[in-house]
Amino acid sequence: MYQIGEEEIAAARRVIESRQLFRYSMGGSETETAQMEREWAEKVGAKYCIGVTSGTASLICALAGMGIGAGDEVIVPGYTFIASALAVLAVGGIPIIAEVDESLTLDPVDVEKKITPRTKAILPVHMVGLPCNMDALTAIARKHNLKILEDACQADGGSYKGRRLGTIGDAGGFSFNYFKIISCGDGGAMVTDNLELYERALIQHDGGCVFFRDPEAALRTPFFAGWAFRMNEILSAIVRVQIRRLDDILGSLRAEKAAMRMDLAQIKGFRMNPVNDIEGDCGTTMAILFDTVERSNAFMRAMAEQGAGVSSPINSGRHVYSNWEAIMNQRGGHHPSRDPYKQPGVSVEYSPDMCPNTLNILARTVYLGVPLQRSGEDRKAFLKKVRTAAAQTQ
Ligand SMILES: *Cc1c(COP(=O)(O)O)cnc(C)c1O
Repeated sequence: MYQIGEEEIAAARRVIESRQLFRYSMGGSETETAQMEREWAEKVGAKYCIGVTSGTASLICALAGMGIGAGDEVIVPGYTFIASALAVLAVGGIPIIAEVDESLTLDPVDVEKKITPRTKAILPVHMVGLPCNMDALTAIARKHNLKILEDACQADGGSYKGRRLGTIGDAGGFSFNYFKIISCGDGGAMVTDNLELYERALIQHDGGCVFFRDPEAALRTPFFAGWAFRMNEILSAIVRVQIRRLDDILGSLRAEKAAMRMDLAQIKGFRMNPVNDIEGDCGTTMAILFDTVERSNAFMRAMAEQGAGVSSPINSGRHVYSNWEAIMNQRGGHHPSRDPYKQPGVSVEYSPDMCPNTLNILARTVYLGVPLQRSGEDRKAFLKKVRTAAAQTQ
């Protein structure tokens, strides 16, 4: 969360005073959630949007919308929040873990190697606001007849070659949890242009209450047993304010990162991780790539000595596949009948060192924070520390 203030307070108050707290209107005006869905669809350029309780729920609904189920393999990157892989298991699928490349996103070369006759979808994750190589991934998906679900949970509003992230594949998932670019504490949204996928996702998101919707909008898809991932009105009202703030937030982050880039480019021997589309990058994270793990560790120590905190993605806990203990140990559900790994004919092998490139690239990468607002002087002072640390690292 980058910003929250009086407008969000006013929005929440408006909803509480209206006493209309449920996402479906009971004969009244268009609800906050319906408006949020329309506004988010417009913002990112998608036909359909469903507000849900979390980013994870958005991925689950999208996978259910695609008809992914028992034994189907979905390729996920080894660097993403565990939720991307958990969503696959939640619908009965098997997450197949592939390498990321130096862009810190799914490596198309390794994706192609991981395709089997069971593969049904690719789940590219736009990590820390960095767009995936969607041209290459789309080409692979076409060639092998696979669906693409973009996990844009860390990249609300980012883009790739002029199209907003989450709208390039068959469906996209977004998170509005506390740590994301825009936020209401916890919430999410799924988008798609595909009506059938949308209707199936709608049922998945609310197996019981979907009938409260406008009867004019009756579903063509027969009901199946869905879940309850309904967004609520107060959070939707907050998200609507956040959507209006989004382009300003991205503008400030991108300007700050561009200023840092210009400066860092002048440091000898310093390399930034390649970005698949620098203009679409959300600007939340500046990633520096060292040629050895020793150098990246030395750089981090030298920064710490100057009292400037920096981090490496290798230390980001459940964002690194080797720390996904439930998945590494193939505990895919609360009960054997609901555990995709325990279904007949399913056999998959995981090990903590199965994606060595990913572990190596993450360990050689150091993140410098990109603050939303920083004076030119503060930036200069920070970059001076970076130069000092870089000199000590050579
Ligand atoms: C945060 C996140 C999610 C899940 O979002 P929640 O809202 O916490 O469920 C999924 N994927 C990635 C890459 C994330 O960072």
